[in-house]
Amino acid sequence: MLELQRNILESMAAGQSSGQILDSLCRMIETMVPEALASVMLLDRENRELSFLSGPSFPPGAISYFNGIAPSPDMGSCGNAALLGEPIYITDVAADPRWNGLREAANNLSIGSCWSIPFFSEKQEILGTFAITSKNRGAPTPFHRRILDIASSLAGITLRNHQREECLLQLSTVFRDASEGMLITNAQGAIIEVNHSFSEITGYAKEEVLGKNPKILNSGRQDQAFFLRMWQSLKDTGRWQGEIWNRRKSGDIYPEWLSISRIDNREGKPHNYAAVFSDISSLKESERKLYHLAHHDPLTGLPNRLLMTARLEHALKQSSRNPTHLALMFIDLDRFKNVNDSYGHALGDQLLVNVARRLSSHLRSGDTIARIGGDEFVVLLEQLEQADQAAVLAQNCIDALAKPFAITGHEIFITPSIGIALFPEDGDDAETLLKHADIAMYRAKEDGRHRYSFFTKKLSDKVKERLKCETLLRRALERDEFELHYQPQVNAQRGEIVGAEALLRWNHPEQGQILPGKFIPVLEETGLIRAVGAWALKTACNQMREWDESGLPRIRLAVNLSAKQISPECINHRLQSILSESGFAPDRLELEITEHSVMQGTAMGNQLLNGLRELGVSLAIDDFGSGHSSLMRLKQLPVHCLKIERSLVRDIPSDQDEQAICRAVVALGHSLGVRIVAEGVEREEQADFLRSIGCDEFQGYLYGRPVAAGAFRQLLALQTAPR
Ligand code: C2E
Ligand code: MG
Ligand code: MG
Repeated sequence: MLELQRNILESMAAGQSSGQILDSLCRMIETMVPEALASVMLLDRENRELSFLSGPSFPPGAISYFNGIAPSPDMGSCGNAALLGEPIYITDVAADPRWNGLREAANNLSIGSCWSIPFFSEKQEILGTFAITSKNRGAPTPFHRRILDIASSLAGITLRNHQREECLLQLSTVFRDASEGMLITNAQGAIIEVNHSFSEITGYAKEEVLGKNPKILNSGRQDQAFFLRMWQSLKDTGRWQGEIWNRRKSGDIYPEWLSISRIDNREGKPHNYAAVFSDISSLKESERKLYHLAHHDPLTGLPNRLLMTARLEHALKQSSRNPTHLALMFIDLDRFKNVNDSYGHALGDQLLVNVARRLSSHLRSGDTIARIGGDEFVVLLEQLEQADQAAVLAQNCIDALAKPFAITGHEIFITPSIGIALFPEDGDDAETLLKHADIAMYRAKEDGRHRYSFFTKKLSDKVKERLKCETLLRRALERDEFELHYQPQVNAQRGEIVGAEALLRWNHPEQGQILPGKFIPVLEETGLIRAVGAWALKTACNQMREWDESGLPRIRLAVNLSAKQISPECINHRLQSILSESGFAPDRLELEITEHSVMQGTAMGNQLLNGLRELGVSLAIDDFGSGHSSLMRLKQLPVHCLKIERSLVRDIPSDQDEQAICRAVVALGHSLGVRIVAEGVEREEQADFLRSIGCDEFQGYLYGRPVAAGAFRQLLALQTAPR
């Protein structure tokens, strides 16, 4: 019996299959009990059928007869043993009713007795039966019972082992063939096993990673806090799952969905960690494609209404934090339906694609254009300084479509109507702004199409007015509508005229004389100031020379210079040729630039202004005190004069602050060695105070308003006339 046990255990250790082991078990029993047949039957999981696992000496016909018997009271010794879970020793099969269901086989095989004993799983469930069947009738002797006990327990061990192996085999097949990457580490985090998909996904062969830490996959995209949370979760719950970016051997970074489980040993200490992951980059890619599809117009590839609204909302949120102006342009193509009707939809589609392309190329890089309907586009203009800029961009869009489109041999003309709504003036949420831009677009249609219109009528009018002004100004030079007036600058002590400031006037064909405040900004924006400024300079120099020639006192001439005129072309070229052509002495010319434009100046501006020194021309800072001056900058420039701004003189002498500022400006100017001129002196008491603090010259209504050349000539002549 000991040998029996040793043999079976050795077979198991040698890794024999359970079928082989049970067969040799049966054969050994048969040698110990002569004329007996040994068999092992297995009960299926549902406890419904018994079938042969081993019965090496049974004839095949008998095996197929007994296979499939149910555990029930008339199904022989094994049927009863499997039903009741206890040994059943039937000593006279022919006479025993428990064999009634198997009578035919019992007779054919002339079975005399049959002793069956069940064996159990670890959980004490019936696994199957071991039986000894004999032609002889009779009860088992104590020796037989011992054999039955040992054989059934060996069969149980074999089967349980078998089941475990089978289970492991299943698991290892799953591990091997899973499409998910799998990785197992020991408690210290060293990799001890990976599967095939792991290598496929990461690019690392198994041998390259065994013993290494999974950190080799780290992409660097997650911060330390991320991994701390992961470990905390593994510690607390034994699990973690989520999305993570890892790095392949090739260096590529990819997203994966990762689940990690902690495997504890019997003492409850972490023993292994198992990670299962799948590469979700293609999922992400299709997600991205889906997102694109959902947010873009398939025909033109432009953002659709959804994305436009999202961007607009985002822009609105941003500008509530950092106030800027936004404009929304609603563009509708005029009579687009006609194109579709006469050329067909395919050509209509082509036209839309081309229109989208042209519009995009005429916008600024940060502007968003979207197609939100058949022939409707919306443009979001961010970071606008003023409404006029939206008008300029709208005009750009109109101009962009002016040239005909050549599509499949046809020449097609199309014009847009554009509505403009402004934030914050015309609404502060996306829906309202879109609605108002749409309404404005209808107004543009009503007004005759092929144009733009603002939602606010007043704004529309203002912009129209400005445009009209611009058109007229463009012609004003050739039509000789500009004129210069001269205002005296007088010596503070004696009141005699020492200079004249030339001031521009526009004789508007309908509105009469217009002051520079109204039109200089337009001249500056359009760049017309260069030509007009040069005209003013030339006219004033010629005027001065003429007065010189008629023997009038030789006074200084002050001419205003716009920041736009500080360019090599204007200063090096125009100024020089004007001076030499007029023959006016440069040392009697003073150019006035406002404090504001001086302080905004560039290094190149500095250099140009310094070039004035060589020409002998002097420089005055106009409207001084209105902006923020830096002394550094003043020192860098060849400044000869500071003109105190009118508003700082207005309430003198009653206003203490103004007094203090004027005192400071005079002190500052004198310490820099420059002349101080006070502007806007209208009353004697102003003059008295300013004189008392050391102002050098005055300019203001008290001494003379700006007047036309003829009137100024008389003023000058009076000064020479003997009193
Ligand atoms: P500005 O250079 O500071 O010129 C002085 C302005 O103050 C003139 O206004 C003048 O009429 C006004 N003014 C002078 N004395 C008094 C006074 O006692 N009381 C009041 N209330 N006003 C006084 P104007 O002629 O309307 O010119 C306005 C501005 O337009 C000028 O300010 C100058 O910056 C600009 N400007 C005028 N002509 C030219 C030009 O030819 N080129 C350029 N770039 N700018 C010009
Ligand atoms: Mg001036
Ligand atoms: Mg001024």
